[in-house]
Amino acid sequence: DPRLEAISAAIRVVPNFPKKGIMFQDITTLLLDHKAFKHTIDIFVDRYKDMQISVVAGVEARGFMFGPSIALAIGAKFVPLRKPGKLPGKVISESYELEYGHDRLEMHVDAVQSRERVIIIDDLVATGGTLSAAISLMESEGAEVVECACVIGLPEVKGQHKLKGKPLYVLVEPS
Ligand code: 5GP
Repeated sequence: DPRLEAISAAIRVVPNFPKKGIMFQDITTLLLDHKAFKHTIDIFVDRYKDMQISVVAGVEARGFMFGPSIALAIGAKFVPLRKPGKLPGKVISESYELEYGHDRLEMHVDAVQSRERVIIIDDLVATGGTLSAAISLMESEGAEVVECACVIGLPEVKGQHKLKGKPLYVLVEPS
């Protein structure tokens, strides 16, 4: 798919951010490039439009930059999965491991219904820890995670092994 090259080219790589040794994949430059941004959304929409998906769940914060456009185009609702303490209603919470320490994701308990078909969106998968927490949130409400989708997949960390057996769809790997 020639669109993938344009997407790859629009992602800026920033060395040593947020700390030394990290090659940060910056998707804000993808958002600045109308064509590449549209290709990104179009590819996800083409993939999910006929799969009876009723929920697109986006992971804070960069999953929020792609999820709502996909949700609107496929006729699904958008559910934000947020960092702790941000959601005002009753929440369920799932913690996950970071390189150093832990973090948590939260979701409103009334955001999804049992047996709804869900895709989970984030900008990038590395270890898969974040997406696994998102999957657990959905499954604890009885929803069915059909697939996890990311713009970028880091190849060396094999995120799919941690995704509780759920399929992972990524558009590009860092060059
Ligand atoms: P994981 O939980 O799979 O190890 O890490 C994925 C999470 O870390 C995602 O929520 C993603 O936004 C963030 N992340 C880690 N490294 C990068 C990076 O280089 N670029 C961007 N945009 N996000 C990153």
